[in-house]
Amino acid sequence: PDAKPAHKRILLKLSGEALMGDDAFGINRATIVRMVEEIAEVTRLGVEVAVVIGGGNIFRGVAGGSVGMDRATADYMGMLATVMNALALADTMNKAGLTARVMSAIAIEQVVEPYVRPKALQYLEEGKVVIFAAGTGNPFFTTDTAAALRGAEIGAELVLKATKVDGVYTADPKKDPGATRYTKISFDEAIAKNLGILDATAFALCRDQKLPIKVFSIFKHGALKRVVMGEDEGTLVYV
Ligand code: UDP
Repeated sequence: PDAKPAHKRILLKLSGEALMGDDAFGINRATIVRMVEEIAEVTRLGVEVAVVIGGGNIFRGVAGGSVGMDRATADYMGMLATVMNALALADTMNKAGLTARVMSAIAIEQVVEPYVRPKALQYLEEGKVVIFAAGTGNPFFTTDTAAALRGAEIGAELVLKATKVDGVYTADPKKDPGATRYTKISFDEAIAKNLGILDATAFALCRDQKLPIKVFSIFKHGALKRVVMGEDEGTLVYV
């Protein structure tokens, strides 16, 4: 018989940068299409997928254009940037035959529906992809924290942190050819070794909720599928 997925419901955190491809900012069409194909493949396996999308490709509250700005104002701009990414992602998903729903943590109801937990759960049960936009809805937080928060709220079995590197390494693999990938690592060990896997708030939330994190590369073809099938891919951070 065909192998069954190891996870029923997952929370996928995509950074804004993941949408840029090789561009300097914004959204690269080919990149977003390819990413959606990877996601479509796991939904076809019957896995329920929720996505938290970042905004760093458009605006980051703590750097760049925001220098000299009021921090909270800049952070709200960052949250709005994630709404733009969410719309682009949902549009690409819908064109690829998926049914995507965007839910925003800040009220912007002419554009996207508000985040309502029971409704998000309903969509997931119906096999729709739910894209959580506007992070946590609060300044001074990040979309990593939104991923941990929403992941816990929807009862995801795993938070998937999509990165450019295919896991957590003992050293920077670009600088040290001897660096090896951790297949798995405990939260405690990751803290002791000061491995910045998610930001500290997000990491603490996952740890408290015993919500495991998988770090993997979204750019490696088939990696997302291998993760949901429970195969050796990326790095698992466990309690
Ligand atoms: N942001 C925020 N609160 C949140 C999530 C995001 O204020 O709950 C703002 C913050 O300014 C951040 C920006 O939105 O810099 C973009 O989010 P993030 O940096 O997490 O995006 P990513 O790095 O994943 O692209």
